[in-house]
Amino acid sequence: MKKHNFYAGPSILSDYTIKNTAKGILGLDNAELSIMEISHRSKECTEMVEETISLFRELLSIPKGYSVLFLGGGASTQFCMVPYNYLNKKAAYIDSGSWSGKAIKEARFFGEVEVVASSEDRNYCYIPKKYDVPKDIDYLHITTNNTIFGTQYKKDPDVKVPMAADMSSDIFSRYVDISKYDIIYGGAQKNLGPAGVTFVIIKDDSLGRVERPIPSMLNYKTHIDKESMYNTPPVVNIFACLQTLKWYRRLGGVQAIQKYNEKKAGLLYDEIDRNRLFKGTADKKDRSDMNITFVMNEEFKELQTEFLEFASNRGMVGIKGHRSVGGFRASTYNAMPIDSVMALVEVMQEYEKGVLNNNLKK
Ligand SMILES: *Cc1c(COP(=O)(O)O)cnc(C)c1O
Repeated sequence: MKKHNFYAGPSILSDYTIKNTAKGILGLDNAELSIMEISHRSKECTEMVEETISLFRELLSIPKGYSVLFLGGGASTQFCMVPYNYLNKKAAYIDSGSWSGKAIKEARFFGEVEVVASSEDRNYCYIPKKYDVPKDIDYLHITTNNTIFGTQYKKDPDVKVPMAADMSSDIFSRYVDISKYDIIYGGAQKNLGPAGVTFVIIKDDSLGRVERPIPSMLNYKTHIDKESMYNTPPVVNIFACLQTLKWYRRLGGVQAIQKYNEKKAGLLYDEIDRNRLFKGTADKKDRSDMNITFVMNEEFKELQTEFLEFASNRGMVGIKGHRSVGGFRASTYNAMPIDSVMALVEVMQEYEKGVLNNNLKK
């Protein structure tokens, strides 16, 4: 049996994605060659990328006037590309965790950055909601799901300025009103495919606002004009993303996925709230459906390592929390089956019984 994969990223992929990607690597039906060894200018490859973009658009209901790009460099390169292309004088950022912090750091190379709200005061356990957005800013940047701290926007903010968003860890997990954003980006390795490709959803007429010259590879316009084919795109990674998107369509699209995610996360949060050994770290109203963070209650604190071992002996992988939160983090991305969540809940219950009755079997 496969392990229960709770890694935060790279993370679980559907069997459909893995099997069909493996098949394409061994040989594409229509080319009798591997997806790894065909030119990105070949008919098979250009058609594959077109199909991926078209399915991506369909599943997210991306309106006309937006482009979808597949680039290299990870979400971290977007931390610099966004201000490079959009920050003229001043941008506003919401600081909701480590990834926001990294985005802020890069933006400061290009102009003034106003951090309009931060949840640092309580170690990022909530999404800041009270803030004023200055009118004279070029854009407001948010991180919709805070992978490390386990918090998530449940609603797109209502603001009157252009918005930019890092959706690395919750894209395709919930409904998003794309038209509220000028640009959305993220690494593929949480909800889409293997690491190595970055998606960008960009409003075509949002560009051209900055005066500075922009090197070709860092200029969104280059990639829009050449439809992600200015240079060699990460072909195999895009192919793997296409398999995930096909699987998403089979599941019934984002609406069905969102329902399933809420159910999965609900199961685990209910157990965290019920179980006497554990408690959640994020404020209830801002809890993420993607990354579920919890710690041991004070009186059981010294059992942390023991529980990790107990869980690991029962097939749980990747539940150790990030060092900045401690405790545990179970990532329940789209591809995570509910059976794995139920298995983790059972492990928590079994462990609780053992501890409270003092008869723990490791
Ligand atoms: C994982 C992650 C990143 C970093 O992505 P890279 O592709 O490694 O650069 C950025 N933002 C968020 C929210 C993430 O979860």
